[in-house]
Amino acid sequence: MTRTYHGSCHCGAVRFEVDLDLATDEVIDCDCSICTKKGIVHVIVPPARFRSLTPGAPLTCYRFGTRVAEHKFCAVCGMHPYYTPRSHPDHVDVNVRCLDDLDWRTLTIKRFGGRDWEANIEELRGARGDPSR
Ligand SMILES: [Zn+2]
Repeated sequence: MTRTYHGSCHCGAVRFEVDLDLATDEVIDCDCSICTKKGIVHVIVPPARFRSLTPGAPLTCYRFGTRVAEHKFCAVCGMHPYYTPRSHPDHVDVNVRCLDDLDWRTLTIKRFGGRDWEANIEELRGARGDPSR
């Protein structure tokens, strides 16, 4: 069942809503260099399921490597509430740890071997049943 969840950075300058169906949406823990250090726990959604509540929020963007991913973070408090992932650049990757009405520790979390990104990425893309996602 799809439900709307509310998320924010730590200081509240960045706020958003996301529609999730926790029975089918994959929640992902990635061991790549940046996800490990960020401590992010991912859920990747099409843009239609994501709404920024703070247009013009002070997001700064960090890029590295292929420079496809836009690693956005709040310029005020440094949290990473959502970003544009390399695996799905037309989607939004939400950090479930930044959701205010959901305890991420209750979720079933799939591990993704992002440290060996090229070898494992099809597993992440292929796992999505709906090709429009
Ligand atoms: Zn902030």
